This record gives sequence, structure tokens and C-alpha cells, in this order.
Amino acid sequence: MRVNLLGAGIDNLNMQETVHKIAAFIKSGGRPRQVVTLNPEYLYRAQDQPKLMNLVNDADLVTPDGAGIVWACKMAGTPVPERVTGIDLMLNLMPLAEKEGWGIFLLGAAPGVADEAAENLRKQYPALRIVGTRHGYFKADEDREIVEQIKAARPQLLFVALGMPKQEQWIRKYKDEMQVPVAMGVGGSLDVIAG
Ligand code: UDP
Repeated sequence: MRVNLLGAGIDNLNMQETVHKIAAFIKSGGRPRQVVTLNPEYLYRAQDQPKLMNLVNDADLVTPDGAGIVWACKMAGTPVPERVTGIDLMLNLMPLAEKEGWGIFLLGAAPGVADEAAENLRKQYPALRIVGTRHGYFKADEDREIVEQIKAARPQLLFVALGMPKQEQWIRKYKDEMQVPVAMGVGGSLDVIAG
């Protein structure tokens, strides 16, 4: 079930339920799914940009990314259980990805950062299958090559760190072509994981 906050539908799920839902998306083998972690800044911008709002409402899973969103849902009388941020969700998916053998692709951040993040994730989850990385400073005419790289790597989970709303728009544009079961924007998470 989704609650409506200023025009955006937000899934009424806690962290554990969100992880389970993503696992179910992957296991279902259905169409590619997009996850949006909705932060206050995005919601604010979406108020006068219908395309950004549509993107949220077309996403397969929308999480409350920030204490402000959780608070506003409560004030509106439609509470959601807890904050589910991009980085927390990404890190909560890792042990399951390792256990299930899901392939992970990291796209975004400055050159070298995704590789460092991959290295740190491998230290913590030695059996984690990181099937590809790519930095996020590319021109639009490189999109095609990147989409091909991701398709060929066949990940189950694609994390895109290009900043919002660019990452959400990029996923939206290419998700059907990439055929990745689950893709989500993760903002500055690769920088954080790279340390
Ligand atoms: N980034 C990128 N390509 C770009 C612009 C940004 O890869 O063209 C990366 C940037 O290096 C950083 C992330 O996207 O790792 C955005 O982080 P930020 O915390 O600004 O994300 P936001 O919270 O705005 O989504």
C-alpha cells in the first residue's frame, strides 16, 4: 500500500519489508523494476515538475528517504514505519545479495570511486558478485556503450550514483533495455562506501 505525500506515493514498508520486496522482484523474473528513495529535496522539486512526479509514481517501489519525509507522513495522518535511505537500503541488500549470488553493478561517482566501493564491499562480503563498475562522468553519447556494458554484465541489482534526479531519469530511460531486475539511484552512497 502507498501513502500519498504532496502528490507522491510512498510505500508503507519498513526496511526489512523493503528488502523482501526487492528480493521478490528479483525472484519473480518479471519486468525490470525501478526503486526510488524519495528525499525531501526531490519531493520539493517535483511539486512544479510533473515529469519528476510521474517518475516517482511510476516507480515500482518508493521509500521514505529522510526523517523529514517520515515526519511529514505522520503529520498528514498517514504514517510510514521508518526512514529507508538509499545507502541503508543498499547496505541492507548486500548480505542477501552475497547469499543469493545476485550480481551487483555500480555505476556513478568520480573515476575510481566505484572500484574502491566495490573493494570495500568485497572485504565485508567476500562472496559478493560485483559484475561491473563504471564512473559517472560520461557524456550523453556514451550512454549506449554503458547500457551495453550493463546488459552484458547481467547484474540482478544496479546501483546508480549520478545525483538526483539525473540517476532516476537515467534508470527510467534505459531500464527496459538493460533488463536488470532491480535498479535504484543511490546518490552519494558510493563515495560513502569508498570512504
Ligand atoms: N555524480 C556523477 N556524475 C555526475 C554528477 C554526479 O557520477 O554527472 C556523482 C557524484 O560524484 C556523487 C553522486 O553522483 O558520487 C551524487 O552525490 P550527491 O550526494 O550529490 O547526491 P544527491 O544527494 O544529490 O542525490
